[in-house]
Amino acid sequence: MTAPSVDPVAELKILETEALVCTMCELSESRTQVVFGSGDPQANLAFVGEAPGKREDEEGLPFVGPSGQLLEELLGEIGLTRDAVYIANVVKCRPPGNRDPRPNEIDACKGYLRTQLQLVDPNVVVTLGNFSSKLLLNTEVGITKLRGTAYEWWGRFLVPTFHPAAALRGRAQVLEDLRYDFSLVRDILDGNLGTEAGTEEEAPASEPAGDPQQLGLFGQ
Ligand code: SF4
Repeated sequence: MTAPSVDPVAELKILETEALVCTMCELSESRTQVVFGSGDPQANLAFVGEAPGKREDEEGLPFVGPSGQLLEELLGEIGLTRDAVYIANVVKCRPPGNRDPRPNEIDACKGYLRTQLQLVDPNVVVTLGNFSSKLLLNTEVGITKLRGTAYEWWGRFLVPTFHPAAALRGRAQVLEDLRYDFSLVRDILDGNLGTEAGTEEEAPASEPAGDPQQLGLFGQ
């Protein structure tokens, strides 16, 4: 007897329904609502940020404040809109006062992200900032050293770059670096990456390419 096929879009909806009532960490006590993710559930490109901020917590959507506006501008520069991509965060609930997510909160929440990425199954994942870049590349190396390269990652590409909020703090070079990294994304989507893709050896302590269904996207 043939096993019923899994509908990833339906599975993603079920996962979201579960996450919306999640109490697996203490962030559930202070959040207004869970910010699960948004965009095309079958996108070829996915973005992973850190955690919801105040506006995201109020509206229930990721990247809706000034950082979101800049993200949309950068997407526009490579011919995309936010509706054409998938956007999520490492943790789904806002840390009080926008503090950094704690390791136990990231551990509690990362299963949602892992399954989101398995179900959306994008060819390119862009990590925005230190938290998501370190988590997905399984490294302690900071974003300043990691960025500027596309890494082979679990049979797809991962492009680590700065969080848009870093550019909004007024550092012009950060914006230029973001633009460069987005141009890498465009090249990958166009099939023009060439030979400049990094390897797992160049992504310190990242996991080798493998079957994400069997090995877990984060290798843990
Ligand atoms: S941050 Fe994640 S693990 Fe913690 S309560 Fe929210 S959804 Fe659950």
